Amino acid sequence: MVDGLALQQRTFVDNEAFIASDDSMQSFYSQTAPAFMPGQQTTLRQQVRCSGIGLHCGQLVNLTLKPAQPNTGLRFMRTDLDEASAWIDGTWDSVSETTLCTTISNSAGAHVATIEHLMAALAAMGVDNVIIELDAPEPPAMDGSAEPFMFLIECAGVVSLPARRALLRILKPVRVTEGEKFAALIPDNGCSMDVAIDFESPVIGQQRIAVNLSGIRFKSELSRARTFGFAHEVAYLQSKGLARGGSLDNAVVIQDDAVINPGGLRYADEFVRHKALDAVGDLFIAGGPFWGRYVGNQAGHKLNNLLVRAVMDDPSAYEWTTANLTTLLAPKLAT
Ligand SMILES: [Zn+2]
Repeated sequence: MVDGLALQQRTFVDNEAFIASDDSMQSFYSQTAPAFMPGQQTTLRQQVRCSGIGLHCGQLVNLTLKPAQPNTGLRFMRTDLDEASAWIDGTWDSVSETTLCTTISNSAGAHVATIEHLMAALAAMGVDNVIIELDAPEPPAMDGSAEPFMFLIECAGVVSLPARRALLRILKPVRVTEGEKFAALIPDNGCSMDVAIDFESPVIGQQRIAVNLSGIRFKSELSRARTFGFAHEVAYLQSKGLARGGSLDNAVVIQDDAVINPGGLRYADEFVRHKALDAVGDLFIAGGPFWGRYVGNQAGHKLNNLLVRAVMDDPSAYEWTTANLTTLLAPKLAT
């Protein structure tokens, strides 16, 4: 990764008076359904934009998030391409590549890479409908976590729409494996995760985190966890067109069994927290928040997408529900 690359990352709210006029961030939570919970669909109150360097492509990119109508979902638009090929659905079946990041493509071959941190932020802020405009094939890396995107969304504001949010309710366990690695979704009353990793590096080793995603737990528990990489892999990755925008400003870098970022780690177990953050983003493109328990053991973007595909391949494994919380939590009577 490129040490010392000074990134010019700036955030703009198109109506600057908005921040001063709004009562508080809490008003968003009180007016809209909490993330990962049943309620009304949402979108952004107004458009908001930022710019920065793409983690893998290394290009300067401008990102604009725009409000969208109910049932639009997550739609990407490449403003640097012709209109006919510019639109890409932010959905599980658009995923075309999962090496080190999640990449989506359309039938015209246009793609957007590294969508997972932005997707995680949208999931955590409970944003169901948004147009995501980019003038390059990757969102800005920002600081390698989801927190700057959450700030961007907070600046825009989140508002309710006249349509119910559909939750992906898991009805029976679904599991995908790759050797010792696996990812699974299990029926549960709520939305939670149990994530474990095991790296040979003594800096990481074995780490595990279990977190309930209801309410705003994502923000405190996961949002600031950054992506990470090993210094000795940088040359190889860059030869493959990856990590070209990586730096100590947007990734935790491990060299000679030590973290070389001047500020060290943000959480003692930042690595597993970032893997959980990635999974939140990878699962959100199923088409909405899931209602169940995600379990990941050394899982990455590939297994996360295979898991969503395995769920969608089995109609008895899930249902889309707009039920309220009382109905969702009601014990099922034996028939
Ligand atoms: Zn990540």
